[in-house]
Amino acid sequence: MSEFDLIRRHFTRPAPAGILGVGDDCALLPAMPGAWAVSTDLLLQGRHFFADVDPRALGHKALAVNLSDLAAMGAEPAGFVLGLGLPAVDEAWLAGFADGLHRLAERWRCPLVGGDTTRSDTGITLSVTVFGRVDARRALRRDAARDGDDIWVSGTLGEADVALRLLLRARGQGLERSDELGRALAGLDPQAASRLLEQTRPRLDWPQPRIALGLALAGVAHAAIDLSDGLLQDLGHVVAASHCGALLDAPALPLAKPLAALGERPAWQAALGGGDVYELCFTAPVAARARIAAMAGRLDLPLTRIGRMDAAVDGIGVRGSQGELLDAATLPQGFDHFR
Ligand code: ADP
Ligand code: MG
Repeated sequence: MSEFDLIRRHFTRPAPAGILGVGDDCALLPAMPGAWAVSTDLLLQGRHFFADVDPRALGHKALAVNLSDLAAMGAEPAGFVLGLGLPAVDEAWLAGFADGLHRLAERWRCPLVGGDTTRSDTGITLSVTVFGRVDARRALRRDAARDGDDIWVSGTLGEADVALRLLLRARGQGLERSDELGRALAGLDPQAASRLLEQTRPRLDWPQPRIALGLALAGVAHAAIDLSDGLLQDLGHVVAASHCGALLDAPALPLAKPLAALGERPAWQAALGGGDVYELCFTAPVAARARIAAMAGRLDLPLTRIGRMDAAVDGIGVRGSQGELLDAATLPQGFDHFR
């Protein structure tokens, strides 16, 4: 199969009215008032996904993590392009990958409008760039949090971290025992571990971008960020950009149900430090509480207040069940590619 057959078969769908999609030198998207929200993510085999990952899940996730960035700005999806490096042409793999990708694209009316395809000698390489639209005055920027804002988070936390660690253990790639979560997981018998993996893995493989929430929050919330590297690290970006500290209440963290078996401290650790979450963390004025609670009902998505922005705090403080400040040295660090 040629490069062009491959593109035609797997990556060409009829473009929506008003858009020139795959097939020309450039895609054409209609110019609109407002700002383009643009984001890109690179996914490498061995670093971001295992070679034997379900190709449907990979196609879904490659787009989902980018849509999540649009959600975190309060932007509406408009389209995306796909850079693809493949060691070989595997028809079944490509069909699954394209299916996962296009299903999510259709769900959020975000068509694939172009890309590039090459042979790769270093495993599968994926790059997705997504385009969205937003009124720049309503965009949810990291630098817009204010002293006294409530800090909120959507959904539940901790599952993806637990799933990733259990997957690594199942592959004999070791389990980090140097922290409380690692020790709690290492202590599980194999049956309990595989049950917990089954319960938590969907959140790792099939993240749901919170687009509808982002759109509802635009103009209501002040700042927002999507959780990709861990709550403490990602909220840390908001804290730094907004020049205002934050105080979190660990007992308020919305822990995923399957984590209850691990005990309080390990579960907090997964919620504070675990990556690959793709929920939104946002700050909003106290006056918006009722509006945000109504949003949770309308979107059928838990929205939980987990703390507040506090100019008197340096960085992020986390309080335990007695309101005592937890020792910063015991708090998890988020993910960093070069640390
Ligand atoms: P060019 O040489 O002008 O870059 P290509 O021959 O690489 O064009 O691609 C032909 C068409 O197919 C272009 O419209 C391009 O956007 C599209 N395309 C190539 N690879 C992909 C892909 N992985 N997904 C979607 N569209 C693609
Ligand atoms: Mg090309």
